[in-house]
Amino acid sequence: MPDKLIKYLKSLYSSTSIQKTLKTLSSSYLYFLTLQKIIQMQEKKDQSGPYNLLIETSSSCNARCLMCPHSKMTRKKQIMDKLTFQKIITRLKSENPPINKVILSGFGEPFLDPNFLDRLERIKSLGYPVRFYTNASLLTKKNAQKLIDLRLDELNISFNGTNPVQYKKIMGLNYAQTVKNINQLLKLKKEANSILPKVQISSIIIKENEKSIQKHLKTWQQKADSATVSLAHEWGGIIKSNSKKKFEKAKRTYPCRSLWHTLVIDSQGSFVICCRDYESKFKLANIKTHSFKKAANHPTRLTWQKLHLKYQKQSLPLICQNCNFPYQDGIEWLLPRSID
Ligand code: SF4
Repeated sequence: MPDKLIKYLKSLYSSTSIQKTLKTLSSSYLYFLTLQKIIQMQEKKDQSGPYNLLIETSSSCNARCLMCPHSKMTRKKQIMDKLTFQKIITRLKSENPPINKVILSGFGEPFLDPNFLDRLERIKSLGYPVRFYTNASLLTKKNAQKLIDLRLDELNISFNGTNPVQYKKIMGLNYAQTVKNINQLLKLKKEANSILPKVQISSIIIKENEKSIQKHLKTWQQKADSATVSLAHEWGGIIKSNSKKKFEKAKRTYPCRSLWHTLVIDSQGSFVICCRDYESKFKLANIKTHSFKKAANHPTRLTWQKLHLKYQKQSLPLICQNCNFPYQDGIEWLLPRSID
């Protein structure tokens, strides 16, 4: 799908009025029946992939974001060890799993991993499109140049404050440094006449930034490839959004396509059922002992898929029952894989 169309669809989806329209549409019986048919057809195709592979090379983070469950995480915060990463590479080479793109992120800041750029290079050399998420506080000139040289496909920057005081309060980081780092990357990209990496600025609305976020959005939409604002996720109820703008309970919910489209490997090498499982509570297998195929066909994953298809959310763990982003309107079943 052409980049311009993807960019347009992403900005369209992030607009509040479109989300409201979708919400109204998705509660209608006609939408429900039509989507049910599409989901039944699509789900069979999705069984064989492709999926996005998330690799959490770091579960440590240098930010303290108010809207992130990282501070509640009790599992070990660490950098993935060399053996585990090597096992991933070996399996990717020998098993050739059906992967759409690799997302080198989890619940941590990737640049805290001293080997991160080498790891990125190794994944890129296997031919996969790669994206990762960062707070950009450690995006030095050298790191930025390397991302351009490696032709990283997408860089998503979580940028949740609109001025130094607010940014410090929300993320615990230095605003001026982050702005400098992002501007530097954009400048280097221009100098290299490179369209990669696509730079997306992502912000989450919370009470602290809600008055100034639209201006922030406009500024970054002019500078980066895209800039979007989302409502705060409540992570199964563990974080309560303090903003007036929050997810409302949907009248109807739809199966979560993420259960078909994503495989997650955490920093200990465990395959985890979903990227929202910040505690790695629902482990499927481990890359050291199990193949990608085994993890993708794990009985727990298949059972969760079935329960979602039967709309039996009440039989699922709270993390799914209370999940509020973005699986409430089923729109992801209508979109091509390339937009994920
Ligand atoms: S509904 Fe939410 S928690 Fe459940 S699988 Fe989907 S994204 Fe994960």
